[in-house]
Amino acid sequence: MITIEKVNKWYGTYHALKNVDAKVSAGSVVVVCGPSGSGKSTLIRTINRLEPINDGRIMVGDIDVHAAHGKAVNQIRSRIGFVFQQFNLFPHLSVLDNVAVAPVRVLGQSWDEARERARSLLTRVGLGARIDRYPHHLSGGQQQRVAIARALAMRPPVMLFDEPTSALDPEMVGEVLQVMKDLAAEGMTMVCVTHEMGFARDVGSEIWFMDHGEIIETGTPTGFFTAPQSNRAKKFLAEIR
Ligand code: ATP
Ligand code: MG
Repeated sequence: MITIEKVNKWYGTYHALKNVDAKVSAGSVVVVCGPSGSGKSTLIRTINRLEPINDGRIMVGDIDVHAAHGKAVNQIRSRIGFVFQQFNLFPHLSVLDNVAVAPVRVLGQSWDEARERARSLLTRVGLGARIDRYPHHLSGGQQQRVAIARALAMRPPVMLFDEPTSALDPEMVGEVLQVMKDLAAEGMTMVCVTHEMGFARDVGSEIWFMDHGEIIETGTPTGFFTAPQSNRAKKFLAEIR
């Protein structure tokens, strides 16, 4: 579903991604972990072209993400679901319209059609009773669930998450992880940067461990947590435990 081929990225003279080669098969959940500054955000941001790459190729299904030009770039960005640490909801739109707006603006759906689907997505993430509220009336966990519904409204082939729970109060982490678990159970292809190792163990199909711009170790969650191969992974796991 996602193929990353020999991707290099520089920020100026800083080599942020070094010859990254990786594959995500349809329906799998990849958990990306590694120390701060190792390139996790940079890598997943290149998958929906929030960051350009300097060389290599990234395919999502049959879309060559970095080959598109002009309007097609925005199409790609909005088609590949991305959930950020900060929810970035539109403050002046109701919860319902936050979810409906992109299908209207980008896909040309009617408001009626988009709102109907938004209602069902919001119900699915447990917010069916709050569709008329505005973002500032919601808790952080609720806002993050709206952000997930908003991404799903574009019927993305894959969903990317960059530390979706790290800005949340601890009591709200569980409700967001539950929505992500449900999505995984429904077969969504997902790439998640997260330090939630419980989630990685329960839901992850594969771990990518990054350091200094490289994926230096991959494996199953159980293998990675019980028997990390590299010294850098051992050190990282010792520090987060
Ligand atoms: P964290 O766990 O702190 O979120 P990360 O693994 O997501 O870290 P990235 O944000 O991908 O790391 O950053 C990788 C490296 O690239 C870091 O050294 C960072 O300082 C650098 N970097 C990131 N964004 C930029 C930018 N826009 N301009 C210059 N350097 C950047
Ligand atoms: Mg990051």
